[in-house]
Amino acid sequence: MNEIVIAKYGEIALKGHNKRSFEEILIRNIKKTLSDLGEFKISRMQSTVYVERIDGVSDSVNLESMVSQLRKVFGLGAVQKCGVLNKDSFETVAEQSVAYLKKTKVLDFAKTFKVESRRSDKSFPLNTPAIQRELGGVVLDAFPHLSVDVHNPEVTLTLEVRDKAAYLNAQRLTGAGGLPVGCSGNALLMLSGGIDSPVAAYMIAKRGVKIDAIHFQSPPYTSERALMKVTSLCERLKPYLINLRLHCVDFAELQEAIRDNCREEYATVILRRMMIKAANLLCEQKQKSGNNVYKALITGECLGQVASQTLSAIGCTDHVADLPVLRPLIGMDKIEIVALARKIDTFDISTLPYEDCCTVFTPKHPKTNPKLADIFALEAQFDYDSLVQKAVNQITVVDF
Ligand code: ATP
Ligand code: MG
Repeated sequence: MNEIVIAKYGEIALKGHNKRSFEEILIRNIKKTLSDLGEFKISRMQSTVYVERIDGVSDSVNLESMVSQLRKVFGLGAVQKCGVLNKDSFETVAEQSVAYLKKTKVLDFAKTFKVESRRSDKSFPLNTPAIQRELGGVVLDAFPHLSVDVHNPEVTLTLEVRDKAAYLNAQRLTGAGGLPVGCSGNALLMLSGGIDSPVAAYMIAKRGVKIDAIHFQSPPYTSERALMKVTSLCERLKPYLINLRLHCVDFAELQEAIRDNCREEYATVILRRMMIKAANLLCEQKQKSGNNVYKALITGECLGQVASQTLSAIGCTDHVADLPVLRPLIGMDKIEIVALARKIDTFDISTLPYEDCCTVFTPKHPKTNPKLADIFALEAQFDYDSLVQKAVNQITVVDF
């Protein structure tokens, strides 16, 4: 019996006249995310996506890995493996259902179950309540250790009788939710090697934003391994973000200039302003090149977490931003952020001990309440802008 994966739309199932464009983006993203595993036959019908392995091409790919990739695609509400059943008669459906459940062993350790059914093929001889009742009886006979619990079953078997076939599944897993990446415009993520910024990327991508990243490094003060940490984070984020491009900017000369010319307590806030200015320049370049312009910056800042993340410091950095700065973590606790980092599997990489450029020449007592007037005076004493421009001119790019 053939087994496939089906995925259900999340929020976009509720969209009106523009649903089609969301669907097209979703299907494109599914293809892209699955392309790491192989080539599949992908079709859609009634807010459901059918993913089938192709004989001789991808028939050796296991369904678990397909499910796990699909669970990272924003826009999907649920993902499940299904047995594809011939629906000539209820008896054939029942017989194949038992065979499928025995083969997959999904009921072996359960004590209770129920059957749910949906029937879009109205020519099928049994209606929905009858299917549930009759199939429930067949399963009880075949698996006498089970009993029915309609309120709180351990396993819910779902039989969908559709035009081409009937589909039976025993394990409906939640999808990533949100909106398909690419339907809400583009933004530029400021990606460090820390815990927070990958989580920020995940949260904004979830609302359909296509993200590229910019990372600042300061070799030789930051090591090759620190950069590898960031590229490993991009690998982990890739299935969620789709077609991620990483821009690497060398800020060593600029950081030396700040160290040598600026009052120490202001070094952090000025460095952060220069990062934003570099991001502005990159956004400007993208604008000149034409399509897919960035409409916002994203950071992993969280209010009060460190000295550079006080309201005053955030105000001083935002002052130089040409675009809105999205800070999805602003009101979250570290525990909540860590839970998300674990969920998206970035935590173990983020906690590797390689230093970020923000921790190079860190002042002992960074200013928690910086004043714009002081910043203007300090920035007037050295031409930092030309070093920012120089760094941006030498950007290197990696595509994931
Ligand atoms: P994270 O865990 O994301 O590193 P953090 O708690 O260490 O955050 P900061 O170092 O103050 O906080 O950085 C705040 C935000 O600034 C980061 O979330 C990120 O968006 C951006 N940022 C910091 N360092 C870099 C860097 N080297 N390259 C690009 N962006 C950075
Ligand atoms: Mg950091």
